[in-house]
Parts: sequence; structure tokens; C-alpha cells
Amino acid sequence: MDMKLPNMVPQTDPGASYFADQIELDAAVQRVMQSGRFILGAEGAAFETEFAEWLGVGEAVGCGNGTDALVLALRGLGIGAGDAVATVSHTAVATVAAIEMADGLPVLIDIDPDTYTMSAADLESVLIKPPPGCPPVRAVIVVHIYGQAAALDEILALAARYGVAVIEDCAQAHGATFAGRKVGTFGDAATFSFYPTKNLGAFGDAGAVTTNDAALATRLRALRQYGWRLRYVSDVPGINSRLDETQAAVLRVKLQTLDAGNSRRREIAAAYDAALAGTGIAPPRRRDGGAHVFHQYVVQVDERDEVQRLLAEQGVGTGIHYPVPVHLQPAYADRLPMGKMACRETELAAGRILSLPMYPELKDAQLEQVCAALRRL
Ligand SMILES: *Cc1c(COP(=O)(O)O)cnc(C)c1O
Repeated sequence: MDMKLPNMVPQTDPGASYFADQIELDAAVQRVMQSGRFILGAEGAAFETEFAEWLGVGEAVGCGNGTDALVLALRGLGIGAGDAVATVSHTAVATVAAIEMADGLPVLIDIDPDTYTMSAADLESVLIKPPPGCPPVRAVIVVHIYGQAAALDEILALAARYGVAVIEDCAQAHGATFAGRKVGTFGDAATFSFYPTKNLGAFGDAGAVTTNDAALATRLRALRQYGWRLRYVSDVPGINSRLDETQAAVLRVKLQTLDAGNSRRREIAAAYDAALAGTGIAPPRRRDGGAHVFHQYVVQVDERDEVQRLLAEQGVGTGIHYPVPVHLQPAYADRLPMGKMACRETELAAGRILSLPMYPELKDAQLEQVCAALRRL
């Protein structure tokens, strides 16, 4: 057989970002090695200032990863043992795991099927009346999944009406906007992951909490390092979740190209939209008045596994974010309270979603290869 296999276009390619800015990145890492300071030093402090400025918020507090950022935000806001925290089941398991790491009780809310983000109606159902056996909800973690803002207007209004704290999980939404303002500036606190494949990614684990509340930022800086206010003296029981200098130095370089990277993601999304026209597959819905940053470009298809196989045959890598909703995973099934909608939209979506290749370094030839495969569907 003389069949030429196309080169595989990966669904994501975190390594490509290194080669895109290799000189600056090598210099940044070398600067840290030569400084002799590896944790919570000048690079970390500079990154916190630069990231807060870029976001448009008072404070950014670096930490070990996006999961710890959620734990720190919850603890910093005084949410702890037995407190009910509402979030979605359609998310990275980290969101739910973090609530239990902070000794809270996750209450799982369904999604709006058009945007995959939290259903405000289902949130209201648990705020009006907690599920049987569940204490009143004290906080909500709203996830801006795939790079698009959740219904912040409705969710913030509900949170204010019922007196609950709001944490924005921005792990997939660095640079996304809502009503002209970046997400991560709306809630009492917001959390970011800088896992390598995120829109702003380190070369290892890293995360941050952002807030306009200076007192909260001070508590977070203590909590991330054993609860120290003064060195070696723990005021409160804390954890160890610090930001490495190497990751901070890398993130400072990559922050400079984040906006351009997000623009490239939108350009790729527009090309996919055009390629899908006429296939019967709908492009992802964009919320009015907000900018989507396409951490993922997600379509819904019948016979998802077959479509995934057809695309793979044409050299197109795809992903599923996420194949099993949290409330159906072995670790969580049948033990967490849910909203009235019982996560039915979440379950429907999980069987139909497919994420196309999406990263700023995707080359034009690769983009054309993906678009050609889409046109054939
Ligand atoms: C990636 C991610 C996290 C967790 O971040 P880590 O840095 O991997 O701990 C949390 N929430 C969402 C929505 C994510 O996508």
C-alpha cells in the first residue's frame, strides 16, 4: 500500500510556545538560576504586579497551581468545614476537588447548554432552598469554561441577593471579557491556573488568586506559606503552595504575548466557523457583549466517537473536555448534592462534545488541514 499519511495536528501543543520565544525564555530561566533565589523572590513579586496590572485588579497572589488557588481563595474568604459551595459538574475535576480540600461540601449545578457555563436558574434553585440534608450555600465558584464568561450579571445578582461569596475560576479564561471588563475582576476573588496548556501557561505548575480586597490578599500571602505573617511564626494554619521563581520568570515573558495568542485563537476559531458552515455542525455560541478567548473550540456532534475517528484518519487530533461529568466519576458519584436540574444538560453535553486543535502556534498549513477535514464531515 502506498498511502501517504498526513502529519498529525495535535489538539494542543504546549512545547511549541517555548520555541516561539526561545531566546527570551532561556534568558529568563538563566537569570533565575544565577540569582540563587528560587521561591517567592523578585520574579514572583514582579509577575504578581504585572499580572494584576494586565488584568485590571488590585492584587495577584502567586501560588503552586490552579487547584491550590481555589483552596486558598475559599480559605481566605473564611469558607471551611462543612460549608456548602455551589459549582458546576461540567468542569475540570479540580474545581470540585478544591472545595473538598478546603473541607467544604460541593453542591453541583447544571449548565446552560448553549454556553456550557453555570445555569443561573439552577443556581437559584439551591440558593432558595438547599438540597435535602445540605446546609445553606455560602459561596459559589463560577467557571468561565472553554474561555468564555459565565452569565456573570445574573450570577452576581443572585449572589448579592442571597449573601454568598463569588469566586471566579478563570483557569481557562485568561483575557476573556464580560461587559467590557476582564473576567477575574468581578467576584470577591478569582483564581487562575498556569498549567502548560492554559492560555497563559508556565513550564510546570503555577497558579494565582486575584482580588481587589487588600486584606484578603494579605491573608492569602500568609495562607500560601504555612500561615506565616512573620517568618517561622504561623498566625493561622496554612499550607505550602508557593510560586517558583523559574515559573514566574517564564510567565513574565509569556504574559507579553498573551493578548496576541488570544487573537490568534480567535482567528483560528473564525476559520473553523467558516469550515463548519454547511456541515450541519453548529459553531460554538458566543455570549453577547463578551470576548471569548477559545481555550477550547468545542462543537457538538452526533456519533461523537465516529467523528473523532474520522478526523484522526485525516490527521486531526481532538479532545473531549470532559468525557465524564464530575457527579458521575467514581470518586464523587452518588454522594454530592445537586441542583433541581440534576445535571441533565451536563450529561447530554458530555456525550456529544468534541474539542478541535487550538493553540496559538498552530500553523496556517495545519489550520487548513483541519478545515479541509471539517468540510468533509
Ligand atoms: C486547569 C483547571 C483547574 C486546575 O488547575 P491546575 O493548575 O491544574 O491545578 C481548575 N479549574 C479549571 C476550570 C481548569 O481548567
